[in-house]
Amino acid sequence: MEQTLSIIKPDGVARGLVGKVIQRIEGLGLKIGAIKMVHMSRFQAEGFYAVHRERPFFESLTAFMSSGPAVVMVLQGENAIARWRELMGATDYRKAAEGTLRREFATDIEKNVVHGSDAPETAAFEIGYFFNRFEIIA
Ligand code: ATP
Ligand code: MG
Repeated sequence: MEQTLSIIKPDGVARGLVGKVIQRIEGLGLKIGAIKMVHMSRFQAEGFYAVHRERPFFESLTAFMSSGPAVVMVLQGENAIARWRELMGATDYRKAAEGTLRREFATDIEKNVVHGSDAPETAAFEIGYFFNRFEIIA
């Protein structure tokens, strides 16, 4: 059993895509171990994306991620990290495979609806960033 952190980003929440995204997660057979809505401060978004602080899009990305409420979830299941990233599709929605969430819903390389951890170490950091262990259903 593996855990990953999933976020429905502010564009996804604002556009009313929460139900559709969760339906696809449940359809994939991943279990939701924890879920909440968070309106991140700029500081919180900067801490979350600290690995990207040298990237040219950092300012814009952290402004976007703190622009409105997001839904953060811990997803659990076999190969949860890879399976959730596969369902999300490529970062750039124009390169995302048919049937992926970003291909279907994203409108922009930055406003790409969903986030998923990319490795077990980043998943552990990202889950701990939003949830304590008593908030996660085992
Ligand atoms: P995420 O980490 O959000 O799941 P990802 O792992 O597919 O997405 P990263 O390379 O980690 O992509 O980039 C993090 C986020 O930064 C992207 O999801 C996107 O919102 C934004 N981003 C990435 N590349 C660009 C870019 N070239 N221009 C603008 N925004 C970008
Ligand atoms: Mg990433």
